[in-house]
Amino acid sequence: MHCPFCGADDTKVIDSRLVAEGESVRRRRECLTCGERFTTFETAELVMPRIVKRDGSREPFDENKLRRGLTRALEKRPVSVEEIESSVTRIMHNLRATGERELPSLYVGEEVMKELRRIDVVAYVRFASVYRDFQDVSEFQKEIQSLTEDRDPGEA
Ligand SMILES: [Zn+2]
Repeated sequence: MHCPFCGADDTKVIDSRLVAEGESVRRRRECLTCGERFTTFETAELVMPRIVKRDGSREPFDENKLRRGLTRALEKRPVSVEEIESSVTRIMHNLRATGERELPSLYVGEEVMKELRRIDVVAYVRFASVYRDFQDVSEFQKEIQSLTEDRDPGEA
C-alpha cells in the first residue's frame, strides 16, 4: 500500500478493526517515510456473475428480482421472511461459488428450485410448473413423483 501523501512503499498498520458487521476491515496506517497517517477499508469483493438470458442478452444479477421471485412463489405459504432471506443468501453464495463470470438464467432458476424444494414443496411445485413450462400432464406427474420418492426414501 503506497502512501497517498509521498508515494512511499513502506506503510505500517497501526490499528485494525472490523466495521459494517464484520464485512469490512478498517485500517489506520502510518507512512514510515513522511509520518502521515491515513485510513484504508478492505472489503471482500463479492462480484455476482452476470446473467445470460435465454435470448443471449446479458444483464447484471439482480438480488431484488431474486427475492421477488422467491416471495411470489412462497405467497401465502408458512415461510418466514427470515427463511426467504437465508434462501436468497444461499442462492447468491452458490452462484458466486461457481466462480463463473457469467451464468445462464436457467442456472439461476435451477438454484431457486433447489431452494424451494428444500423449504416448501407446494411452492416448489407451483414454481416448477410455471418455470419448466411442463408440456403435458404426464411430465408434471413425473416431477411430482420424483419429489415424493426423494422425500420418502424406501417407499415405492
Ligand atoms: Zn508518506
